[in-house]
Formats: sequence, C-alpha cells, structure tokens
Amino acid sequence: MPTTSKTSPKLNLPKGAALLHDPLYNKGSAFTEAERLALGIKGLLPPYVQTMEEQVQRVMENYRAKQTDLERYIHLISLQDRNETLFYKVMMDNLEEMMPIIYTPTVGAACQQYGHLFRRPRGLFLSAKEKGTYNKILKNWPHRDVRVIVVTDGERILGLGDLGACGMGIPVGKLSLYTACAGINPAQTLPILLDVGTENETNLRDPLYMGIRQGRVRGREYDELVAEFVDAVFKNFPKTLLQFEDFANINAFRVLETYREKVLTFNDDIQGTAAVTLAGLYSALRITKKPMKDQRILFLGAGEAGVGIGSLIASAIAEECEMPIEEARKHCWFVDTKGLVVKGRTDLAHHKLPFAHEHAACPDLASAVEALKPTALIGVSTIAKAFNKQIVERMGQFNEHPMIFALSNPTSKAECTAEEAYTWTNGRAIYASGSPFPACTLNGKTYVPGQGNNAYVFPGIGLGAVACEAKHVTDRMFTEAARALAACVLESDLDMGRIYPSLKRIHEVSAHIAAAVAKVAFKDGLAQIKKPADLHKHVKSQMWVPEYREYV
Ligand code: NAD
Repeated sequence: MPTTSKTSPKLNLPKGAALLHDPLYNKGSAFTEAERLALGIKGLLPPYVQTMEEQVQRVMENYRAKQTDLERYIHLISLQDRNETLFYKVMMDNLEEMMPIIYTPTVGAACQQYGHLFRRPRGLFLSAKEKGTYNKILKNWPHRDVRVIVVTDGERILGLGDLGACGMGIPVGKLSLYTACAGINPAQTLPILLDVGTENETNLRDPLYMGIRQGRVRGREYDELVAEFVDAVFKNFPKTLLQFEDFANINAFRVLETYREKVLTFNDDIQGTAAVTLAGLYSALRITKKPMKDQRILFLGAGEAGVGIGSLIASAIAEECEMPIEEARKHCWFVDTKGLVVKGRTDLAHHKLPFAHEHAACPDLASAVEALKPTALIGVSTIAKAFNKQIVERMGQFNEHPMIFALSNPTSKAECTAEEAYTWTNGRAIYASGSPFPACTLNGKTYVPGQGNNAYVFPGIGLGAVACEAKHVTDRMFTEAARALAACVLESDLDMGRIYPSLKRIHEVSAHIAAAVAKVAFKDGLAQIKKPADLHKHVKSQMWVPEYREYV
C-alpha cells in the first residue's frame, strides 16, 4: 500500500502548531521539508524527516513494550488522538492482534475506567439536561459531511451493564472498526454519547465520573429525547447512517421499530449480530449439506441478539422457501430464564411473542433439547457453561454435525468452549463463538473455531449503505450481507471447521458485503445515487486508505 498521495485541492488545512494538533491532518515527524516551510511548522519538529514505515516501527516498539492490554489500548487511542492516518495504518496492518484491544474485550475495561483514564474528549456528548438544544450542539461538530454515526446511551455496554457516560468508548471503538475494516473515512465518522443518566451507583458516587449525576430518564421523556436527537442528526447530517449501539432491551427494540423505516439506521446488537450468525449458519450448511428449511434452531437467551438472529433467520427462510413469515418463525425456538418460550405463557416480553409457538412447557434447556431435537443450538444468554456435556452429547446423538454456536461474551461467559464442543462430539460439532478461541487438536486433526464477530458485517453494511446513499437499511440487506459473507468462506476454511473467513481478508470481505447491500438498495429503489456500472468497483473506490497526502 502506498503511504503518500497527492492532496485534494479542497483541503482546508490548519496552519502552524494547530496543524500538529489536528489528528486528521497531522503527519508528525513525516512532514516534508517543503511542508514544514510552507505550513509554518519549521522548527516545531525534530529535523529528521521520517517515513511512515519508520513511524510505524516506533509505534510498534512502544506497543510491544506495554505490559497490559489496557496500556496497549491507551497507547493506541493516544496515537489516534495525535495522528489518525498513522493509527489506521498500524491498525489495518495488525487488525487481528489489535481488534481485541481497540474493541471488545479491552474496550470494556477502558469504559469501566473512562473517567479515570480520560485524556482528550472524542465525539459528541448530548445530555438530558440539554434537551431542546441538540440541533444547536450538533453544529459544534467541526466536520459537516458526516456519513456514519454510532450512538449509545450507555445502558448495556457489552456484557457490563449500565456504564452511563463511560460508555463513550464503545462508539469510538466501533467507528474505528468501520474505518479499519471497511475504509470509512475517519473525517466522516462521529461517535455520540446520549447521556440520559445512569443507575450505576458506583459511577454516581465516583468523583471522577464524567456524566450527568442522576437516574436514567425513562418512558415518554426518554422517547422525546431520542426523537429530538434523531431529528437533529438528520437535519445536520442528511446523508448519515445512524447506528444504535448497546442500548438496553427495554429501549433497543422500540427505538429500532420507530426509526428503521423513517431514516437510515440500524442496531448492530440486534441486526448485525443476526447477519453474522446467519452467515455462520449458511457456511455450516455447506458442511452438513442440509437445506435451511430442515433446520430447527434452539436459542438459549431471548434478548437483543437472540431475537434479532431468530427474526433474520425467519426472514431468510420465508424468502428462500416462499412461506409466510409466521411459518418460517416456527424454525426458531427460544429458552429464556423461565424455560421454553411457548404460547400460553403469560410472562413474555413483547419482543418474544412472535416466537411463542404451540408446545408443551419445558422448564429448561435440557428438556427443550430432548423435546425439540434441534439441529443447532445458539447461546446468547451470557450464562457460562450452559451447554454442558450432557446437552452437547445429546446434540451429537441427534445430528451428524450438530451446530453449536456459543456466542456469549466475553470468553468467560461462553456457553461452552470450542474444545468442549469438539471433544463431546468427537470432532463432529460445527462450532462458533462470540469471543475468539484458540485452535484445538483432537485425534490428530486441528480445528479452527470460527468467531461470529460482528465486525465481519457492520463495516460492510455501513460502506454499502453510505456508498449508494440508501434511504433505509432493510432486512433484505442483512440477509444478502450474510450470504455475501458466507460466500467469502473458502473450502479450506471449512476443512478446518472454520465457518468465517480469516480476519486478514476483512477489506475484501467488507467490499463484497457493501456491494451486496448496495445491490439490494438499487433493486428495491432505496438508492439515491445514479447506479454505477460496477457496484463492487464503486464501493472499493469509496474506501479510504491510510496514506499521507502531499500538502504542498
Ligand atoms: P440481552 O441482555 O439483550 O439478552 C440476554 C438474554 O439472556 C436476556 O433476555 C436474559 O433474560 C437471558 N438469560 C439470562 N440468563 C438466562 C438463563 N439462565 N437461561 C436463559 N436465558 C437467560 O443481551 P444480548 O445483546 O442478547 O447478548 C447476549 C449475549 O450474546 C452477550 O453475552 C453478548 O456478548 C453476546 N453477543 C454476541 C455477539 C456475537 O457473537 N457476534 C453479538 C451480540 C451479542
């Protein structure tokens, strides 16, 4: 990859010391002699002009010297705040290694200590106290052509619960992945924290907590805040994609339903997870050689991830088998804290109702497995070890290749480990997890477990939606994204038991997904640009690369 390119004539460069403090334009020690003279920074840098490769060497030397992941996180975020081009060069070249630092799990620890680690702000903070002024505050953001926003209200940060304003690390990290995985221009990204208060007593008592100190706004007032927020976002940034992230169940489904057909928006916890899991299922079916219509999928956990996945699988089955969605949903069953979700239960939250089928009650997962003999088990319960030996062995008796997806994060919460799934089925299970698991060897064969990482999908969805200026993000875009991702899985991946491609190929994968998404947008009349002759070429041409521009 080249590391310099000609500057665009429209660049509005800051001059002098301000240039060195603008992370989007700063090149640090790589400013050339001519640039140093012309831009008023001569003498403000050590005299030797470094290449980007030399800068990368220094960053990596320091990175490797850090003792903990949190220190590595701070090192990388500080670099991002100084020089974004260099930050993304390093990230993109070391994505597999750095993704768990810049995002889950390390970002979770960073969020927990947000007020204590705080160095420089990044993104926009809108609090309930500023109700009525969101439109004005959004005008303070220095960049006007924003194309991707990630917003959280901090209520359900990863598996860590309500972190309030400390949740800002999540939109920041997620947008870094949009750029690192799909080349969304960092100047066009905007992280937002919608601070509606917190119920986290530790935070409220912490003198270094940086959010508003009150309980969460709920009910109508909450909905009014979100409505004002969404309205202000699209007034200020009419071409943006708005991604909701880590909202709690009680709000996430309702907010999604309210806005999904009004503006360009999606919820990654619900829909992105669904697409990546559906992709895993498509890949797994290449191993089992059984059609989708023959699948009985049992979920443990009926929250955002579970219901999102079930809904998308049902959409895909309805489309492929030309059956009504109500029929297609009967392929998906859920066990929640009270047992099997069935008709007749009176304690079901609204989002579970579409999956409450006619069936006798089953008090727990083991009895539901016996009753339904599922082809796939999907764990999205946050309950470690819930897929025990007896359950996985029974799955192995019902199926030649049982699909065992233990998606709960972090690693310590996985419903079973890769090694357990392979051992208890004598290597026949098709396993995927939410957090990465190492390869394991059984009877001389090495298995590489797939990680159902949302980062396979959301950056490509974002790129596709933005590249064709789509009006909405639809379910069909997610099913096509899942098919595109599954199509990127090589036979050699499947031979190792891996149902997702290597993360090393993420740029290529994101471009394929983006093209698939844009194709749906054009087909369904949702694209707002003139159709390019070659969609794949078009999305690739939109991908930003971390190279220095020549400013003079
Ligand atoms: P959530 O809080 O919305 O849902 C979790 C659900 O599990 C809740 O409905 C809860 O009632 C249920 N549950 C808790 N204990 C249970 C039990 N003993 N038996 C049955 N159900 C139980 O959270 P979510 O967003 O749905 O995420 C769930 C898990 O999935 C998390 O660990 C998350 O990290 C993981 N996840 C993984 C991916 C991925 O792999 N790509 C993506 C999203 C979420």
